[in-house]
Amino acid sequence: MSGPIWDFKGRTALVTGGSGGIGGAVVRKLARAGAKVVFTYSRSKEAAEALLEECSVEKLEVSALHGDLSSEAGVEKLLEELVRFRSEPLHYVVNNAGMNADVPVYLMTGKQWTDVIQVNLNALFGISQALIRPLALTQGSMVNVGSVSGLTGIAGQANYSAAKAGIVGFTKALSKEVGPLGIRVNCVAPGYIETDMIKDFPAAKQKKLREGIALRRFGTPEETAEIVLFLLSDSASYVTGEVFGVSGGLV
Ligand code: NAP
Repeated sequence: MSGPIWDFKGRTALVTGGSGGIGGAVVRKLARAGAKVVFTYSRSKEAAEALLEECSVEKLEVSALHGDLSSEAGVEKLLEELVRFRSEPLHYVVNNAGMNADVPVYLMTGKQWTDVIQVNLNALFGISQALIRPLALTQGSMVNVGSVSGLTGIAGQANYSAAKAGIVGFTKALSKEVGPLGIRVNCVAPGYIETDMIKDFPAAKQKKLREGIALRRFGTPEETAEIVLFLLSDSASYVTGEVFGVSGGLV
C-alpha cells in the first residue's frame, strides 16, 4: 500500500484530529493523492508541526488549525476559524478526532462520561451540521470515525461505546437527510489500531486482545486511512449510510 490509488486533485478536505495516528495517516494519504487538506489539532502541537513539516518537504498542500473540541464553545471557535481560513469549496470532511477515558460504569464520574460524549459525539454533530451547506455545494462526502466499541460494546468503555454507537446512528440518519443533496455520509469502525490510543495497554492485555482478532494483529493507521479514502472517493459513489469495519476480523 504505497502510492495513491485515488485522485483527489482539485479537491479540499477537512480532517479533525490530524495530529493523531489515524488522522495523520488520512491527511498524508489525501494530500499525496492531490487534495488540499486542513487538519485540526488540540494538545499535540509538536505532532501537528511535525506533520506540516513532513508534508512541506513533500510539497503537499496541508495546513493546520488549532481546535479544542472539549466544549461547545471550542467547537464554535474552530468553526469560526475555519470560515476565516477557508476560501475554497469544501469537498470532504473526516470527523476523526476522538478520545477515551476507560473506567467501569460503577466508578465512572459524570465528567468522564460527559467529556467522552462531548469530544467524540457532540463535537462531531456541531462540525457536521455547520459543514452540510459547503458539502452540498460540491456534492461532497463525509466519513465519521466510529469504533468496534460502538458496535459491540466493550467493558470499561461505556462512555466511549455510547458515543461511538451514537456516531453510527447519526451517520445513518444524516445520510438519509443529505443524500438528496448529493452528499454521502459513511462511518468507519476501527478495531484495535496501533496509535497513542492503545499504546499504553499492558503487554499481557495486548497479547490477549490479539488472540481475539482473526488476523492476530493490530491494524495500522494507514490501513484505516485507506478505507477512509475509499469511502470519501468516487469509487464509493453509491455508498452512503454504511459502517465499514476495519478490525482484522475482531471477534
Ligand atoms: P490518537 O492518536 O490519540 O488521536 C486522537 C486525535 O483526536 C488527536 O489528533 C487529538 O488531538 C484529537 N483529539 C482528542 N481530544 C481532542 C479534543 N478535546 N479536542 C480536539 N481534538 C482532540 O488516536 P487515534 O487512534 O488516531 O484516534 C482517531 C480516531 O479513531 C478516534 O475517533 C478514535 O476514537 C478512533 N478509534 C481508534 C482506535 C484505535 O485502536 N486506535 C479504534 C477505534 C476507533 P491532540 O492530540 O492534538 O489533542
